[in-house]
Amino acid sequence: MPDRKAPPGDRIKGSESNRPKSSESQSSARSIEFSEATEKALQNKVEKNNEDASTAKKTSLATLKAVYRRGAGAFSSSHRPGMTRNQWAMARVNAFLYLLNNGAPENKSYVSDNDLLPTGHPRSTRKKESMSLSPNSKDARMIYFGADTEEAISTRVSAYNAKAPKGFEVSLPTARAVFRRGALAMTASGTSRRTRNDWGFARLDAFLSLVRHGRPHNPSYTEDNDLIPLTASAARSEENAAGTVTGEESDLAGALLDIAEKYGKFNQDATGIWAGYVPAAENEVAEIGVMCANCVLYRGEDQCAIIALPVEPAGRCRFAVIPDGVVKPEPPIEDEVRALPNLISFIKEQDDYESNEDAILDMTEYSGLGYDAEPAIRAAWIRATNDDSDPFKRALSMAELTDQSIDADLLPRFEKGV
Ligand code: SF4
Repeated sequence: MPDRKAPPGDRIKGSESNRPKSSESQSSARSIEFSEATEKALQNKVEKNNEDASTAKKTSLATLKAVYRRGAGAFSSSHRPGMTRNQWAMARVNAFLYLLNNGAPENKSYVSDNDLLPTGHPRSTRKKESMSLSPNSKDARMIYFGADTEEAISTRVSAYNAKAPKGFEVSLPTARAVFRRGALAMTASGTSRRTRNDWGFARLDAFLSLVRHGRPHNPSYTEDNDLIPLTASAARSEENAAGTVTGEESDLAGALLDIAEKYGKFNQDATGIWAGYVPAAENEVAEIGVMCANCVLYRGEDQCAIIALPVEPAGRCRFAVIPDGVVKPEPPIEDEVRALPNLISFIKEQDDYESNEDAILDMTEYSGLGYDAEPAIRAAWIRATNDDSDPFKRALSMAELTDQSIDADLLPRFEKGV
């Protein structure tokens, strides 16, 4: 690339708005301020890059800010003639994104931002630093944060583990390593508004949330992915094998846990949030899988994470969070009909009827509901025509199952005992 020494007018030292060394790391780069247009342009690049990127290829605004600032600074030493400082800095951002996504730089000599690559990237130079803070390393075990802080970390982790589903627990050494990394990040940023402990605890809270929900609140928080307990991935796989816990289900469960933690578990007295719990004997949807045993908030035996009452595995409350794929819908109409041997022998094969009307009349008679039911059976037939199911089988189902059938709402009201 035909760089050349920057002319004297382009040589600027330092910045009016940003501290020296603020581009040293992602943590320190969070405080960097650019014009609104530049911030927006960088944010757009982050979003575009992260849209379909795997975790290892995702980036953050803080990272691109650091690269941009380095590029803008390098412009003062040398740049291609005719380029502005902003163009030079943005070109470096583009080179970084290329390196991030392709595993190697487009221009072999571009190595100066390798320290900003995620630890999993083949060219990352951050790996060593991160590993030295692994939970069971000698360094980590030798660190002592002071009695109060040690106790506060331990209390935080114990409270989290008491609520965490099996497999999602976090060990104290892991929590201490995360705390330490948070405190070091504060040192790197040099901010004075929050204490080192504030940084450590904020990082620990973010980590615990990441383990519990499987994804970070802030998408750019990836620095502690190497510390996520292996058991958490296994537990999540188990959950997924039973059914998929979707993003909104996980968020709902998290929100319910947060509310229960803040205000106490839900009960059925006249105050607070009404649990709406029904025991197994009254749970009319247990058969299709809506029950405590399948709920992500069930904690075994008679315990629920958010309901104060003892629960039964086949009971349920109004908040049941059931993974996708666990609830079995009502049996398809064909299955219902297959289970009707009496009816099949009473009613002829469809092709043996001269007209649909004859079939509907037979079905009406068989239903035992009297001729008042005939319009309902005919309506079930028409409904099936409209939603592309088999009209003959649908009407048959109503004749046999009457108020238990899928079209029970069509029956005369007195037949449903209303
Ligand atoms: S269904 Fe309700 S009571 Fe049962 S485990 Fe889930 S949240 Fe708790």
